[in-house]
Amino acid sequence: NPFDTTKIRQDFPILKREVRPGVKLVYLDSAATSQKPIQVIDAIDSFYKLTNANIHRGIHVLAEEATELYESARQKIANFIGAQSSRQVIYTRNTTESINLVASSWGRKNLVAGDVVILTEMEHHSNLVPWQILQEDIGIRLEFIPVSDDGQLDIEKYHQLLDLKPKMVAFMHVSNVLGTINPAKEIVKAAKSVGAVTLIDGAQSVPHIPVKINEIGADFLAFSGHKMCGPTGIGILYGREELLEAMPPYMGGGDMIKRVYLRSFKSNELPYKFEAGTPAIAEAIGLGVAVDYLERIGMQNISHYEREIIEYATDRLVEVSGVKLLGPLNKERGAVASFDLFNVHPHDVSQVLDMDGIAVRAGHHCAMPLHDRFQLTATTRASFYIYNTIEEVDLLVDSLHKVKKLFG
Ligand code: PMP
Repeated sequence: NPFDTTKIRQDFPILKREVRPGVKLVYLDSAATSQKPIQVIDAIDSFYKLTNANIHRGIHVLAEEATELYESARQKIANFIGAQSSRQVIYTRNTTESINLVASSWGRKNLVAGDVVILTEMEHHSNLVPWQILQEDIGIRLEFIPVSDDGQLDIEKYHQLLDLKPKMVAFMHVSNVLGTINPAKEIVKAAKSVGAVTLIDGAQSVPHIPVKINEIGADFLAFSGHKMCGPTGIGILYGREELLEAMPPYMGGGDMIKRVYLRSFKSNELPYKFEAGTPAIAEAIGLGVAVDYLERIGMQNISHYEREIIEYATDRLVEVSGVKLLGPLNKERGAVASFDLFNVHPHDVSQVLDMDGIAVRAGHHCAMPLHDRFQLTATTRASFYIYNTIEEVDLLVDSLHKVKKLFG
């Protein structure tokens, strides 16, 4: 078995802690942020202890070493997602900033009033609000691929929407609420056939399933380091080179320029054109180590293991009477389970679970319109990653029975 959870768990120091005396942590909130293995923590620690310097500037040993670590992490990330060149991999703070960069830079350059942008009803706010800002500022028109009762995109309706000749189709790969794995390749192919540019929000796919951008063929891919065993404060925007070349800078300042005059500037080349100011150096290096870590386990192995866990979890959860589980059942899905427990507010549910050391998320999970779609204001979400076990699913279900007893 290439997948040894016991061994993996030993890499995550936080999993050893008790949240209260005698109560062990059961961390089921990895869709919000993943825990970090010791390899990543050590890499950051050792960067600050031994190498810390600013990059791309000084000609001294530390600056050269720091630059080398920062750039080799970029190359690792490029390989990890199947990008042709590391010039296409831009460091940002997170998925949110990556999408804002595209909406602002590509959008303001390429969109005019009346242009259609297609999104989906299941989007995270970070792939809704940046486009709503353009709707306000430029007058673009937003259209949405509807979500079915079992949490899947209505692809037939999508094909009809393509008759509107959209300029952009931007969608999430894996839903952070429903667990739905959207048919990215098919969506991109259809978008391309009408000349639309495509953006994938990979926040919940890149950490969990093999994502090769050269196979999917999308123009942009956004994701966050902190959901894939990496540090907070570092994210990635992958972009097709011709598009990135033609886009204006997103922010101005140091590092993103080749030459500055009093009244004008010349932009730097890719990827630096989009990296103004001193970046999150230690975090980028940490993300490179996180990528090494995931690759050592193998993304294919990770996705198989998570499928086992989520299948078991959905089977057990639907057995609990009163649980209404969102998302596709008996289908391949991502490792998140959001549910409504009849009559009990998700905040109360998670408070009772917390008594047992179980960390889940309660709320709208930054997808208010999706919750509107299901006539809910909030759900309780358990999400799983490489270090979770079948036993932890059992603990969750046991604890849910306690909730039911407490709240009648
Ligand atoms: N998109 C999806 C699908 C997400 O799950 C998240 C994180 N909840 C985001 C975007 C935003 O990620 P970040 O907060 O790291 O920018």
